[in-house]
Amino acid sequence: MDLVEYQGKQYFARYGLPVSPGEVADTVAEAEAAAERLGYPVVVKAQVQTGGRGKAGGVKLANSKAEVTEHAGNILGLDIKGHIVRRLWIEKATDIAKEYYASFTLDRSAKLHLAMVSARGGVEIEKVAEEAPEAVARLHVNPLDGLSIEGARDLVERAGLDAEAREGAAEILLKLYQCYIEGDADLVEINPLVLTTDGQVRALDAKVTLDDDAAFRHPEWAGFDNLGVSTERERLAKSKGLSYIALDGTVGIIANGAGLAMSTVDVVSQVGGSAANFLDVGGNADEEGMASALEVINLDPSVRSILVNIFGGIVRCDEVARGIVKALGRVDIGAQIVLRLDGTNAAEAHKIIDDAASEKIINERTMLGAARRAVELADVAGKEGGSKL
Ligand code: GDP
Ligand code: MN
Repeated sequence: MDLVEYQGKQYFARYGLPVSPGEVADTVAEAEAAAERLGYPVVVKAQVQTGGRGKAGGVKLANSKAEVTEHAGNILGLDIKGHIVRRLWIEKATDIAKEYYASFTLDRSAKLHLAMVSARGGVEIEKVAEEAPEAVARLHVNPLDGLSIEGARDLVERAGLDAEAREGAAEILLKLYQCYIEGDADLVEINPLVLTTDGQVRALDAKVTLDDDAAFRHPEWAGFDNLGVSTERERLAKSKGLSYIALDGTVGIIANGAGLAMSTVDVVSQVGGSAANFLDVGGNADEEGMASALEVINLDPSVRSILVNIFGGIVRCDEVARGIVKALGRVDIGAQIVLRLDGTNAAEAHKIIDDAASEKIINERTMLGAARRAVELADVAGKEGGSKL
């Protein structure tokens, strides 16, 4: 999981790394209010999971409220390498004397951690490494030994950091190593690590990649999952062999086959609704598969109705129907389910659903009719107030 800058900085702060005060803003008005609280000048920064924001116009200095208004307006909605900016980080500006680079990552071929430090920060480190490999100082760290202050001091000296920055940078390296190890990160990168005009060393940017496999021992990571994509849901879906993609609508969708799932998303929007997700149960439209799919969708608080669209080809509709009825007994589903089953043994399937007489399930015969019904239910549930949860 990649963190965006402000999340990375919040992470850094837990380990005592010096970062500048700042606030998140999702609108121009919020950006203005944040800047007023922080005091000018501030930096308005796009929060997207990609680097090179500065070059793309996603990082701007603002000396007044008018400049915040202008920059925030320009940066929100900006497309940076395919990432649309929906969130800003407004940070108290720093007077920079020098820009450096520091990172820890895993060197898989050496089977050791690798620290890299350069006096040529603020620019793409890949370029520096290519043009002037000697400008990037490296140190392999054996996890059993850890990083010592002597090792860190030697590294920053080899990197050619200015004398007045070295002690501060060495201390930052120790904290960054701690953050990398204890935080179960695959990568922690500070670019630029700056020397301020008043002689302090500070992290002005943060790139953090967390090891998803370590999520079980980091309940605090749940707070990082706030940019629209639920990694928990996606992980659960993946572990159950489902192909699941979160979208931003209100109708949960379950279909068998990627083509049918995509058509279902389309039909929902054709009748004026919006899909909360794409979920393809593939060939697993049995009890287990349906229960898993419903479980995943049930975790999404924005889902207000569920549309199950199954075409029985190899899988028989009566099996699917039995699976759904059983799954309903296992999973406590919040939203109403609109079901459209067609294909092999459809008539038997409809009988099974009707016999079950669950008020949770509405049986529709056509895909269009089912989509209309699901969208209506989502609208009603929305008006009744908030999420189903
Ligand atoms: P990136 O382009 O995505 O890596 O975004 P950064 O956060 O690294 O910002 C890009 C550049 O903006 C930095 O290298 C700095 O030169 C500049 N910058 C960022 N924050 C400040 C600040 O507080 N003051 C000043 N003067 N420049 C800043
Ligand atoms: Mn940067």
